[in-house]
Amino acid sequence: AVEVKDLRKAYDGNRVLDGLDLTVRIGEVIALLGPSGSGKSTLLRCINHLENWDSGEIRVGGRKLGFDEKERKLTPRAIANERANVGVGMVFQQFNLFGHLSAKENIAGPLRWVHGLGRFEAERRATELLDRVGLSHRADALPRHLSGGQQQRVAIARALAPNPSVLLLDEPTSALDPELVNEVLEVIRRLAIDDGLTMIISTHQVRFADEVADRVAFLNGGVILEEGPAHEVLSSPRHPLTARFLSVMD
Ligand code: ATP
Ligand code: MG
Repeated sequence: AVEVKDLRKAYDGNRVLDGLDLTVRIGEVIALLGPSGSGKSTLLRCINHLENWDSGEIRVGGRKLGFDEKERKLTPRAIANERANVGVGMVFQQFNLFGHLSAKENIAGPLRWVHGLGRFEAERRATELLDRVGLSHRADALPRHLSGGQQQRVAIARALAPNPSVLLLDEPTSALDPELVNEVLEVIRRLAIDDGLTMIISTHQVRFADEVADRVAFLNGGVILEEGPAHEVLSSPRHPLTARFLSVMD
């Protein structure tokens, strides 16, 4: 479903993605682990085309994300359309909800503005998704009146609303108080196991990765140092850096 080939990106001469290759199959859940600064967020932001890259290729569902000379001039709207067409959704560490909109409007709004649904259809879909993340009773609440865990569940519902073929989650639980982590992990677990959604999740939760991910990829210095079946990589890493990283987690 997602193919990343020889992806390179530098900020001011500092190589952040250094020829990274990654393939994620349909229905597969892959966890990205790796030290701070290894390029996890940058990779996810490129796959969602929130960033441009210097060279290499990204395909989602066989479609190449527009990257040629023309693409450098793509307008934000064209990129939003591309994102909608290839079907990528993203959930951020800091939720990024619209603070002045209710939980329901956070989901229904973008369906109307970006995806062109009518008000009735958008609200119906929002209601259905809030139910799915266990928040029907908070539909009219503003984000600031929701707990962090509830806000992140709204953000997940919003990302799912256009029915993406791939969901990217960038450290979805790191901004949460420890007692709120589980309700969010539970929602993600259900999407992985019950719905068979294709997901790429960057996380520091090794135990969660072991439980939910089919595969784990360990990033370091903008490349994948080691990858494989989650349980295998996590219980017997081959690369010394992976082993050292894992020994200081959980
Ligand atoms: P963390 O675990 O801390 O979230 P990460 O693996 O997500 O780390 P990235 O956020 O992808 O790492 O950052 C990779 C490198 O790119 C870091 O050295 C970071 O300082 C640098 N970087 C990221 N965004 C920018 C930017 N907008 N401008 C300059 N440098 C950046
Ligand atoms: Mg990050």
